[in-house]
Amino acid sequence: MSLKNYPQIAIDGPAGAGKSTVAREVARRLKIKYLDTGAMYRAITLKTIRNKVNIDDLKALEGMLANTEIELDEDKRVYLDGKDVTEAIRQPDVNAMVSPVSCISMVRRRLVGIQQKIADESEGIIMEGRDIASKVIPDAHFKFYLDASLEERARRRMKEQLEKGIQLAENKVASEIASRDKIDSSRDDSPLTVVDDAIVIDTTAMTFEEVVDKIVKEVSVGLR
Ligand code: C5P
Repeated sequence: MSLKNYPQIAIDGPAGAGKSTVAREVARRLKIKYLDTGAMYRAITLKTIRNKVNIDDLKALEGMLANTEIELDEDKRVYLDGKDVTEAIRQPDVNAMVSPVSCISMVRRRLVGIQQKIADESEGIIMEGRDIASKVIPDAHFKFYLDASLEERARRRMKEQLEKGIQLAENKVASEIASRDKIDSSRDDSPLTVVDDAIVIDTTAMTFEEVVDKIVKEVSVGLR
């Protein structure tokens, strides 16, 4: 993949660090594709919940995965087996189950394969998740790790939900995020890690625009 024409950008970080909104805006400014890999793990999780698949039953899970189609369109809608699940994958039942489901290697193999194919076929891409720089596109031209304090991440998540008319208690949001982080960072298969060549951005005291500007600037300088 040529760097100048088709930059590949990886963004990793814990829950609620603002990866999705930042990555989407960077993609818009750089005119490249954006992929929210967390949405894919969420869609698989939703299907295990709806189909009452016991996630310890690997045979049942394998059967389910073989019959599952996930699509993400340019308009940030997520489709599971042809049905729009954009809102459903953000509900508390999925929040509670997504990290345990994401520990399962069979699930990861399937999704990482799809993600790598999308990256290969795209003319430049910004992908965000937990294992993007360490596993999905380890040769990415730019690797960023976005972080923020737990309090700030919980506060942002609450604000985001409030804009949709949903009022959440701060301590509940913080504990849900902290519990996902713990599972995501300690699992055996592709845990959340900061790779050696990542640019770490602590966004706690930064505005959304400042974070976007910093990433766009790093990439623009690198592309010169
Ligand atoms: O990014 P988001 O918070 O929506 O991701 C939901 C969950 O999906 C994460 O908490 C993690 O368990 C899983 N995930 C993952 N690997 C990725 C992206 C998300 O394990 N690349």
